[in-house]
Amino acid sequence: MAPLPLFFIGSGNAFAPGGLCWNGFVAGERHLFEAPPQTLMALNRARIDPNAIETVVISHHHGDHCLGLPFLLLHWKYRGRTAPVDIVGPPGTRELAEDVGLRVFPGLFESAVEIRWHELRPGEELNLNGMHLRALPMKHDERLAYNLGYQATIAGRRLAYTGDTAWCDSVEEMARWAEILVAECASRDERIPIHMNLVDDMPRLRAAMSAESLLVLTHLDASIRSTELPRTFVARDFGQLVL
Ligand SMILES: [Zn+2]
Repeated sequence: MAPLPLFFIGSGNAFAPGGLCWNGFVAGERHLFEAPPQTLMALNRARIDPNAIETVVISHHHGDHCLGLPFLLLHWKYRGRTAPVDIVGPPGTRELAEDVGLRVFPGLFESAVEIRWHELRPGEELNLNGMHLRALPMKHDERLAYNLGYQATIAGRRLAYTGDTAWCDSVEEMARWAEILVAECASRDERIPIHMNLVDDMPRLRAAMSAESLLVLTHLDASIRSTELPRTFVARDFGQLVL
Protein backbone atom coordinates (compact mmCIF):
# COMPACT_ATOMS: atom_id res chain seq x y z
CA MET A 1 0.00 0.00 0.00
CA ALA A 2 1.38 3.41 -0.91
CA PRO A 3 2.29 5.68 2.00
CA LEU A 4 -0.04 8.60 2.61
CA PRO A 5 1.69 11.64 4.14
CA LEU A 6 -0.38 14.11 6.14
CA PHE A 7 1.18 17.52 6.72
CA PHE A 8 -0.54 19.79 9.23
CA ILE A 9 -0.56 23.50 8.32
CA GLY A 10 -2.29 24.09 11.64
CA SER A 11 -3.75 22.23 14.58
CA GLY A 12 -5.67 24.76 16.66
CA ASN A 13 -9.33 25.57 17.11
CA ALA A 14 -10.98 28.87 16.08
CA PHE A 15 -9.43 30.77 18.98
CA ALA A 16 -5.84 29.98 17.95
CA PRO A 17 -5.14 29.07 21.60
CA GLY A 18 -1.56 29.42 22.78
CA GLY A 19 -0.63 30.70 19.33
CA LEU A 20 -1.61 27.50 17.50
CA CYS A 21 -2.35 27.93 13.81
CA TRP A 22 -5.88 27.17 12.71
CA ASN A 23 -6.61 23.59 11.71
CA GLY A 24 -5.85 22.26 8.23
CA PHE A 25 -3.73 19.60 6.53
CA VAL A 26 -2.36 18.47 3.20
CA ALA A 27 -2.95 14.80 2.30
CA GLY A 28 -0.85 13.02 -0.29
CA GLU A 29 1.00 16.28 -1.02
CA ARG A 30 -1.76 17.58 -3.29
CA HIS A 31 -5.09 17.57 -1.46
CA LEU A 32 -5.59 20.45 0.98
CA PHE A 33 -8.24 19.88 3.64
CA GLU A 34 -9.50 23.29 4.83
CA ALA A 35 -8.15 26.70 3.90
CA PRO A 36 -7.61 28.49 7.22
CA PRO A 37 -6.40 32.11 7.12
CA GLN A 38 -2.69 31.21 7.39
CA THR A 39 -2.76 28.62 4.60
CA LEU A 40 -0.53 30.40 2.09
CA MET A 41 2.00 31.41 4.75
CA ALA A 42 2.07 27.88 6.12
CA LEU A 43 2.55 26.24 2.72
CA ASN A 44 5.36 28.67 1.87
CA ARG A 45 7.02 28.16 5.22
CA ALA A 46 6.86 24.38 4.80
CA ARG A 47 8.13 24.68 1.20
CA ILE A 48 5.03 23.03 -0.19
CA ASP A 49 4.44 24.64 -3.59
CA PRO A 50 0.93 26.18 -3.48
CA ASN A 51 0.73 25.58 -7.24
CA ALA A 52 1.09 21.83 -6.59
CA ILE A 53 -2.19 21.76 -4.65
CA GLU A 54 -4.77 20.16 -6.94
CA THR A 55 -7.76 19.95 -4.61
CA VAL A 56 -9.06 22.11 -1.76
CA VAL A 57 -11.71 20.50 0.44
CA ILE A 58 -13.73 22.77 2.75
CA SER A 59 -15.94 21.30 5.47
CA HIS A 60 -18.02 24.34 6.42
CA HIS A 61 -18.02 28.11 6.24
CA HIS A 62 -16.68 29.20 9.62
CA GLY A 63 -13.82 31.62 9.07
CA ASP A 64 -11.12 29.41 10.52
CA HIS A 65 -11.87 26.87 7.79
CA CYS A 66 -12.14 28.98 4.63
CA LEU A 67 -10.78 32.53 4.94
CA GLY A 68 -7.41 31.50 3.51
CA LEU A 69 -8.97 31.02 0.07
CA PRO A 70 -8.47 34.64 -1.13
CA PHE A 71 -4.72 34.41 -0.52
CA LEU A 72 -4.47 31.07 -2.31
CA LEU A 73 -6.40 32.49 -5.26
CA LEU A 74 -4.11 35.54 -5.27
CA HIS A 75 -1.05 33.31 -5.39
CA TRP A 76 -2.48 31.19 -8.16
CA LYS A 77 -3.36 34.28 -10.22
CA TYR A 78 0.04 36.00 -9.98
CA ARG A 79 2.61 33.32 -9.18
CA GLY A 80 2.78 31.10 -12.20
CA ARG A 81 -0.02 28.59 -11.80
CA THR A 82 -1.25 27.15 -15.09
CA ALA A 83 -3.07 23.98 -13.99
CA PRO A 84 -6.74 24.10 -12.98
CA VAL A 85 -7.67 23.70 -9.32
CA ASP A 86 -10.68 21.93 -7.86
CA ILE A 87 -12.38 23.48 -4.83
CA VAL A 88 -14.88 21.29 -2.98
CA GLY A 89 -17.24 22.44 -0.26
CA PRO A 90 -20.87 22.59 0.80
CA PRO A 91 -23.40 24.52 -1.30
CA GLY A 92 -22.65 28.25 -1.20
CA THR A 93 -18.87 27.81 -1.19
CA ARG A 94 -18.36 29.46 -4.56
CA GLU A 95 -20.66 32.37 -3.73
CA LEU A 96 -18.91 32.95 -0.42
CA ALA A 97 -15.41 32.72 -1.91
CA GLU A 98 -16.27 35.07 -4.76
CA ASP A 99 -18.00 37.57 -2.47
CA VAL A 100 -15.16 37.72 0.07
CA GLY A 101 -12.44 37.37 -2.55
CA LEU A 102 -13.64 40.21 -4.75
CA ARG A 103 -14.11 42.51 -1.77
CA VAL A 104 -10.58 42.03 -0.46
CA PHE A 105 -8.71 41.60 -3.76
CA PRO A 106 -10.64 43.26 -6.64
CA GLY A 107 -10.08 41.43 -9.93
CA LEU A 108 -9.13 38.24 -8.10
CA PHE A 109 -11.03 36.03 -10.51
CA GLU A 110 -9.74 37.72 -13.68
CA SER A 111 -7.21 34.94 -13.92
CA ALA A 112 -5.97 32.42 -16.46
CA VAL A 113 -6.27 29.72 -13.82
CA GLU A 114 -9.41 27.61 -14.16
CA ILE A 115 -11.22 27.21 -10.83
CA ARG A 116 -13.52 24.18 -10.84
CA TRP A 117 -16.13 24.38 -8.09
CA HIS A 118 -17.77 21.26 -6.68
CA GLU A 119 -20.53 21.80 -4.14
CA LEU A 120 -21.56 18.65 -2.27
CA ARG A 121 -24.58 17.92 -0.15
CA PRO A 122 -24.52 15.25 2.54
CA GLY A 123 -24.35 11.79 0.98
CA GLU A 124 -22.99 13.03 -2.36
CA GLU A 125 -19.78 11.58 -3.79
CA LEU A 126 -17.11 12.77 -6.19
CA ASN A 127 -14.02 11.43 -7.95
CA LEU A 128 -11.23 13.87 -8.73
CA ASN A 129 -7.43 14.06 -8.88
CA GLY A 130 -7.01 10.46 -7.79
CA MET A 131 -9.29 10.84 -4.77
CA HIS A 132 -12.78 9.56 -4.06
CA LEU A 133 -14.73 11.83 -1.72
CA ARG A 134 -18.00 11.25 0.11
CA ALA A 135 -19.61 14.04 2.12
CA LEU A 136 -21.31 13.26 5.44
CA PRO A 137 -23.62 15.46 7.54
CA MET A 138 -22.06 16.61 10.81
CA LYS A 139 -23.57 18.12 13.96
CA HIS A 140 -22.14 21.61 14.25
CA ASP A 141 -23.46 25.16 13.72
CA GLU A 142 -27.11 24.89 12.66
CA ARG A 143 -27.04 28.53 11.56
CA LEU A 144 -24.83 27.42 8.67
CA ALA A 145 -26.72 25.68 5.89
CA TYR A 146 -24.32 22.72 5.84
CA ASN A 147 -21.64 21.21 8.06
CA LEU A 148 -19.77 18.41 6.31
CA GLY A 149 -17.20 15.77 7.12
CA TYR A 150 -15.56 13.61 4.47
CA GLN A 151 -14.57 10.07 3.73
CA ALA A 152 -11.66 10.20 1.28
CA THR A 153 -10.03 7.27 -0.47
CA ILE A 154 -6.56 8.25 -1.69
CA ALA A 155 -4.18 5.70 -3.24
CA GLY A 156 -6.22 2.93 -1.68
CA ARG A 157 -6.04 4.42 1.83
CA ARG A 158 -9.22 5.24 3.74
CA LEU A 159 -8.92 8.69 5.33
CA ALA A 160 -11.83 10.29 7.19
CA TYR A 161 -12.03 13.87 8.42
CA THR A 162 -14.74 15.03 10.78
CA GLY A 163 -14.56 18.78 10.18
CA ASP A 164 -16.15 20.45 13.19
CA THR A 165 -18.82 18.45 14.98
CA ALA A 166 -20.30 17.13 18.16
CA TRP A 167 -20.65 13.36 18.50
CA CYS A 168 -23.16 12.10 15.93
CA ASP A 169 -23.93 9.08 13.74
CA SER A 170 -21.52 10.29 11.05
CA VAL A 171 -18.65 10.35 13.54
CA GLU A 172 -19.41 6.76 14.45
CA GLU A 173 -19.67 5.75 10.78
CA MET A 174 -16.28 7.34 10.06
CA ALA A 175 -14.73 5.61 13.06
CA ARG A 176 -15.79 2.20 11.79
CA TRP A 177 -14.71 2.91 8.18
CA ALA A 178 -11.42 4.79 8.43
CA GLU A 179 -7.84 3.55 8.47
CA ILE A 180 -6.88 7.08 9.43
CA LEU A 181 -9.37 9.34 11.17
CA VAL A 182 -8.55 13.03 11.59
CA ALA A 183 -10.96 14.17 14.27
CA GLU A 184 -11.70 17.48 15.84
CA CYS A 185 -11.08 17.65 19.59
CA ALA A 186 -11.74 21.26 20.48
CA SER A 187 -11.31 21.08 24.26
CA ARG A 188 -9.98 18.90 27.05
CA ASP A 189 -13.09 18.46 29.20
CA GLU A 190 -15.31 21.45 28.43
CA ARG A 191 -18.67 20.30 27.06
CA ILE A 192 -19.39 22.50 24.04
CA PRO A 193 -22.60 21.40 22.28
CA ILE A 194 -21.12 21.81 18.77
CA HIS A 195 -17.73 20.17 19.40
CA MET A 196 -16.11 17.03 20.80
CA ASN A 197 -13.69 16.90 23.72
CA LEU A 198 -10.80 14.74 24.82
CA VAL A 199 -12.22 13.30 28.02
CA ASP A 200 -15.77 12.35 27.00
CA ASP A 201 -15.66 11.80 23.25
CA MET A 202 -12.21 10.55 22.25
CA PRO A 203 -12.32 7.30 24.28
CA ARG A 204 -15.58 6.20 22.65
CA LEU A 205 -14.36 7.36 19.26
CA ARG A 206 -11.20 5.28 19.69
CA ALA A 207 -13.28 2.33 20.90
CA ALA A 208 -15.43 2.45 17.75
CA MET A 209 -12.31 2.16 15.54
CA SER A 210 -10.46 -1.01 14.66
CA ALA A 211 -7.35 -1.61 16.74
CA GLU A 212 -4.93 -1.02 13.86
CA SER A 213 -6.52 2.25 12.65
CA LEU A 214 -4.94 5.60 13.48
CA LEU A 215 -6.68 8.47 15.22
CA VAL A 216 -5.27 11.98 14.81
CA LEU A 217 -6.61 14.79 16.98
CA THR A 218 -6.76 18.34 15.66
CA HIS A 219 -8.75 21.60 16.00
CA LEU A 220 -7.25 21.59 19.49
CA ASP A 221 -7.17 23.59 22.63
CA ALA A 222 -3.61 24.40 23.73
CA SER A 223 -3.99 22.21 26.83
CA ILE A 224 -4.17 19.06 24.68
CA ARG A 225 -0.56 18.06 24.13
CA SER A 226 -0.75 14.28 24.41
CA THR A 227 -3.11 11.40 25.01
CA GLU A 228 -2.71 7.90 26.34
CA LEU A 229 -5.29 6.45 23.96
CA PRO A 230 -3.81 3.68 21.77
CA ARG A 231 -2.64 4.56 18.25
CA THR A 232 -3.77 8.14 18.77
CA PHE A 233 -1.67 11.16 17.85
CA VAL A 234 -2.08 14.85 18.63
CA ALA A 235 -1.49 16.96 15.53
CA ARG A 236 1.21 19.62 15.70
CA ASP A 237 1.54 22.79 13.64
CA PHE A 238 3.90 21.97 10.76
CA GLY A 239 4.03 18.35 11.84
CA GLN A 240 3.91 15.42 9.42
CA LEU A 241 2.58 11.89 9.76
CA VAL A 242 3.29 9.29 7.12
CA LEU A 243 0.78 6.48 7.18
ZN1 LIG B 1 -16.79 25.43 12.91
